[in-house]
Amino acid sequence: MNKEARIFNFSSGPGVIPTPVLERARDEMLSLNGSGMSVMEMSHRSEIFEEILSFAEQGIRDILALPNDYRVLFLQGGASLQFSMVPLNFLPSDGSSDYVVTGVWGEKAVNEARKCRGGVNVIYDGKRDGYRTVPDQGELRVSSDAAYIHYTSNETIDGLEFSYDLDGAGVPIICDASSNILSKPIDISRYALIYAGAQKNLGPSGVTVVIIKDELLERAPAGLPTLLDYRNFAENNSMPNTPNTWGVYLIGLVCEWLKELGGVTSIAKINAEKAAMIYEAIDSSDGFYIGRAKRSARSRMNVTFQLPTAELDGKFCTQAEAAGMSGLRGHRSVGGIRSSIYNAFPKTGVERLVDFMADFAATNG
Ligand SMILES: *Cc1c(COP(=O)(O)O)cnc(C)c1O
Repeated sequence: MNKEARIFNFSSGPGVIPTPVLERARDEMLSLNGSGMSVMEMSHRSEIFEEILSFAEQGIRDILALPNDYRVLFLQGGASLQFSMVPLNFLPSDGSSDYVVTGVWGEKAVNEARKCRGGVNVIYDGKRDGYRTVPDQGELRVSSDAAYIHYTSNETIDGLEFSYDLDGAGVPIICDASSNILSKPIDISRYALIYAGAQKNLGPSGVTVVIIKDELLERAPAGLPTLLDYRNFAENNSMPNTPNTWGVYLIGLVCEWLKELGGVTSIAKINAEKAAMIYEAIDSSDGFYIGRAKRSARSRMNVTFQLPTAELDGKFCTQAEAAGMSGLRGHRSVGGIRSSIYNAFPKTGVERLVDFMADFAATNG
């Protein structure tokens, strides 16, 4: 199989993985580091796997320049399990939490939190405007006694992204960064907990990265079910039970790839260029393509737009597929087009898309 056989994959998730990472994994598939086994066949208690896990952890630590009082944990259950684990661990029954809801994922997080004990205040709800924008810091009235504030730094379905790190004014910030983790530099000191399902920017599905500050970790109550207790993962090096060994291995390789590229500063520049090319194609189309998000809230990871009719949306996706571009159909709840251009998505694919957009508008506009 040659590289030319790879399609330009705009999938929102699981999304594209860097080709050099897949090649390396292929080369190591039958025998990892001379072990005579693939990573999927070896004990997670073996020395070789412990090294793989610390390599993945170190990769994330290096890329985000994590201070020593942050832990990196590898969990399962997807980002969605975090919607429950966060309140179970950090929302006391006599306390309350603040949620900033800018899209479908934030809404799901609220729905799960409401099943737990403790109060849930939605301090910003973008639903009434159909999830087109994100609030400025100044619009948010954080409850000073909240146990935490939860927000979604990039809403994958709607294509909205915060361009700044939220300031909690002393209240711990918990962030679902599933679809933009490691895509740009962040001010880590603002966050008490960041979580991300790996399948967008970090590797394969089935493993969730949780970055958590010790100070927050210490607030978890005693008596939680073992596998829902962050402390148990922290105390057991992410292995109170068998982790997703394959997923952790690939995350290590993806981090190594990103570091060689120059880390978050370099990838942020590339990501901004890629997104700007598509937004430019939208804005210069005389209204043929209509961007979904308000300009100030445009995502660099998921560019969402629509054509004059749903029929043209469909035709666009079908013809794009024939031209070597897959995964452009918008989420069924919002329709339209969504081009997901995560870290691993190549700039040449974006060039192909904007050329296609111009041609398609010329013949169908
Ligand atoms: C994909 C996604 C999720 C859900 O992830 P799962 O791993 O499928 O549970 C949650 N939040 C955001 C922002 C996402 O993009």
